[in-house]
Amino acid sequence: MDWASIFIHDTTWTLAAEIVVRVVVMFSMIILFLRFTGKRGVRQLSIFELTIILSLGSIAGDPMFTEDLPLIQALLVMALVISLYQLCTWLTVKYQPFEDLIEGKPIYIVEGGLLVLEKIEKGEMSHDEFFAEMRQQGIEHLGQVRVGLLETDGEFSILLFPHDEIRYGLPLFPHQYQAVKQIDSGTCYACMHCGYVDYIPNPNQHCVRCECKDWAKAMNNEVIE
Ligand SMILES: [Zn+2]
Repeated sequence: MDWASIFIHDTTWTLAAEIVVRVVVMFSMIILFLRFTGKRGVRQLSIFELTIILSLGSIAGDPMFTEDLPLIQALLVMALVISLYQLCTWLTVKYQPFEDLIEGKPIYIVEGGLLVLEKIEKGEMSHDEFFAEMRQQGIEHLGQVRVGLLETDGEFSILLFPHDEIRYGLPLFPHQYQAVKQIDSGTCYACMHCGYVDYIPNPNQHCVRCECKDWAKAMNNEVIE
């Protein structure tokens, strides 16, 4: 193996100096262009924004060390991408259908203490992901949740029931989210697939909502603040 070729190849001091200039210029341009998009830093990116970031990364990265790539071409491409971004942003503000197309729509995951069935069945959302999100917000069971919404940037918005409307619901923490093997009469059980709560005669009862037959003991305690 030719180590000199791997690490140095035909690098000269002149080329090294050129790389320094290229990196400084492209680095400054990325910052400038990103400021130009009007974004104030990044927490969660929508798919659309992620696309922009990825294209910018590639456009900005290559000219940093590719000798025969004039910076002006890279800058031109960056300017174009940013203009397209601006145009798309403008269109999303103007036309709702366009926004739905490139940003997606917020999705209801929980309504009235129950998981929205079609979302789970379509596989748009895994239990684990959403349960973890709710647990981090101090929610113990679905009976506390009035609305759970998945925003287009991947964040969750959660509205809780007021204290006097908290009902029995599916537990979200692993120790309580366990399929029961026998039924105590007079106890509420929650379907582990969809959150439906019922008094069931035996642990093999099918859920009337989703046909599934795994039941966990339902909880109805209040949110601890
Ligand atoms: Zn069910």
